[in-house]
Amino acid sequence: MSGGGSNPETGVGRPGRVEPIDPAWAASRLESWFPGHQRDLPWRRHRSPWRTLVSELMLQQTQVSRVAERFESFLARFPDPDAMAAAGEDAVVSAWEGLGYYRRARLLYAAAVVIRDQHRGEVPDTVEALLELPGVGRYTAGSIASIAFDRPAPIVDGNVVRVVARLDAIDAASDDPVLIEHCWRRAESLAVVADSPGVLNESLMELGATVCRPGTPSCDVCPLLDRCGARRHGMEDSIPRPKRPARREVVHRHSILLRRGERILLRRRPSKGIWAGLWELPSVEAASRLEPEAIAAGLDFRVEGLRHVESFRRLLTHREVHFHVHEGITRIRRGTWCDREAASRLGMSRPMRLLVDRRAWGSAD
Ligand code: SF4
Repeated sequence: MSGGGSNPETGVGRPGRVEPIDPAWAASRLESWFPGHQRDLPWRRHRSPWRTLVSELMLQQTQVSRVAERFESFLARFPDPDAMAAAGEDAVVSAWEGLGYYRRARLLYAAAVVIRDQHRGEVPDTVEALLELPGVGRYTAGSIASIAFDRPAPIVDGNVVRVVARLDAIDAASDDPVLIEHCWRRAESLAVVADSPGVLNESLMELGATVCRPGTPSCDVCPLLDRCGARRHGMEDSIPRPKRPARREVVHRHSILLRRGERILLRRRPSKGIWAGLWELPSVEAASRLEPEAIAAGLDFRVEGLRHVESFRRLLTHREVHFHVHEGITRIRRGTWCDREAASRLGMSRPMRLLVDRRAWGSAD
């Protein structure tokens, strides 16, 4: 963190003297602004605690546009916690396909089971009870409690951090823990004075997503323009500063397509780590590309005639994955041999699904 004088309240650098903004004024501006400026999104058209819970988990690490495409069909399949708990984890993971970060699907399923077994199928309505659900942390508990039950619970996500850092003219990186704690306190000060904490919180996030955007914000249409510290100091384009990008780990996955008639051999990944619990072609992972002999030696069954058929690369948030696809022959009969129909019911990562569809069944991407 760098910048001007240190704020004794937050310890966060500020460019100069900035009067603290009256929370009642800011909350009132935000609540008035939201109804006429919110985007039309599926989870806003018809509200329920379950729809809020599902949408918040989906939105955690996936773009709004992708969640919007998938939301209603997912809810049609799992209209309430009981339906999801009854469907089983594999069905939920499979329906989650394309949304990424599959651990969230398993946590959502686990939350549905807890809601069914401990809350009579009703999403709990307090932050404390929500925090007991699998996959629900401080942010998600606050959003469900406020948006679904209008409780004065604060929420802080990347959008809120940006708005608060600019409003209070705080020159810090967006992942600075001192800034983030300040944002939680600021968000709470707003939520407790709001007429509707749910509207206030949604407005704060919407403002960050549509007006107070990364890069150059659209200050001229901002309801907080009159008292914005960053605007007053001409810093709206430069704060908060970007966090340092994480270095991606490079991994090479050697995936083997093995056929027996119309079936292919699939395996389930371990329950921890990348693509946890999803299905894939038998694979050998290494830090660099392997020759066929080394790939065969890395498998726990015998294969022959390994032949490279294609390579491609996928960039994930924390990894650069190089896929090297091979075909081969094996005599083993044990394991999960699936035809097209059975394979379609198993959860797979997006790159693996495209690979299987393309190589095993000859479908176009
Ligand atoms: S005035 Fe500009 S910088 Fe300040 S909160 Fe609004 S959009 Fe963000």
